[in-house]
Amino acid sequence: MLHKIINLTVRDVRFPTSLEQHGSDAMHSDPDYSAAYVVLDTDCGLKGFGLTFTLGKGTEIVVCAVKALAGLVVGKSLQEIVSNFRGFYRLLTSDGQMRWLGPEKGVIHLATAAVLNAVWDLWARAEGKDPKRIVSCIDFRYITDVLTEDEALDILVKAQEGRQQREDQMLKEGYPAYTTSCAWLGYPDQQLKQLCTDALKSGWTKFKVKVGADLEDDVRRCRLIRQMIGPNNTLMIDANQRWDVDEAISWVSKLAEVKPLWIEEPTSPDDILGHATIAKCHNRVMFKQLLQASALQFVQIDSCRLGSVNENLAVLLMAHKFQVPVCPHAGGVGLCELVQHLILFDYICVSANLSNRMCEYVDHLHEHFANPVVIQDAHYMPPKDPGYSCEMLESSVKRHQFPEGDVWKLHQNK
Ligand SMILES: [Mg+2]
Repeated sequence: MLHKIINLTVRDVRFPTSLEQHGSDAMHSDPDYSAAYVVLDTDCGLKGFGLTFTLGKGTEIVVCAVKALAGLVVGKSLQEIVSNFRGFYRLLTSDGQMRWLGPEKGVIHLATAAVLNAVWDLWARAEGKDPKRIVSCIDFRYITDVLTEDEALDILVKAQEGRQQREDQMLKEGYPAYTTSCAWLGYPDQQLKQLCTDALKSGWTKFKVKVGADLEDDVRRCRLIRQMIGPNNTLMIDANQRWDVDEAISWVSKLAEVKPLWIEEPTSPDDILGHATIAKCHNRVMFKQLLQASALQFVQIDSCRLGSVNENLAVLLMAHKFQVPVCPHAGGVGLCELVQHLILFDYICVSANLSNRMCEYVDHLHEHFANPVVIQDAHYMPPKDPGYSCEMLESSVKRHQFPEGDVWKLHQNK
């Protein structure tokens, strides 16, 4: 079957999370978790679902960019795309006119990710994959000085050994996770305490705290959380790009007493050399430079801001070559649903290693998905349905579609 793509729809879906300060951090004090939500229709009825994450305002710009890319997708068959997925990736990222707007950053990057991820979802629903095919989806342009196609294939072939055992292990135990739900910057101390107590009861042992706006406030909140979780559990901090390099160093040394495992996004993600410790990167090319600068102790990939599956695969393979653990970012809306696939793939098919690895979990908005993540005892349980788990419930999309959905009619003043 050819699965010809006959239509692409994209919708602006927003959740008013800022009302309760969910997702608040040092740089984004009032995010409304949102998505440009893409559905691909095929001539045989099978659909592909993809999304890219946004913070509310401006989602209409991403929607517009997806529409600008639609002509490159509609009319093609799934087989035509996946038989040369690298070529298709390049078609989207290297269109002679549109690449001026990106090509691998910002709005175009987000829009490309939503479209590509919908194709991956469609493909996963249609059939299985093998190492050669996976490598054929990655664009190695700009990264061959660090990872060649042959090396990538070699990594995947080597990881075939023990694959079944790792898959069985994941089905039984799940993939270790940490939580960020307890300590958004805008939460009052009482809420923070309550959420920590609840999380400890449900088996959570690793906690991330948002910091970076006010030092005294950070010291108080971090001490409170360290006190709540005890000396043996893990604490991490995240400044969401708030600081200059020197500021980051002095601020973090004042927070050292709470023994954070890592400091996330201390400064601008574009400041390759300024990243002495932890870094989050926007695309595979920047990631490569960080590896070369030896500026990474952990890698935090981001299923949406980092982009498509095609790019995330390149990052997982490069990280493995340099033996840097990958601890993906998740949260927002649908990001946990997406990222669980990447991290399970990393363990089962690439790194075969769980040491120093964990995946972020945030407990918001899962109820809007057709196949929401399953967390058991602070572990991601592998999804059993084919696809990329980003199909939303149609009733949720309708209610949250911006600006005409019922939820937004209630918040007209926003
Ligand atoms: Mg973060």
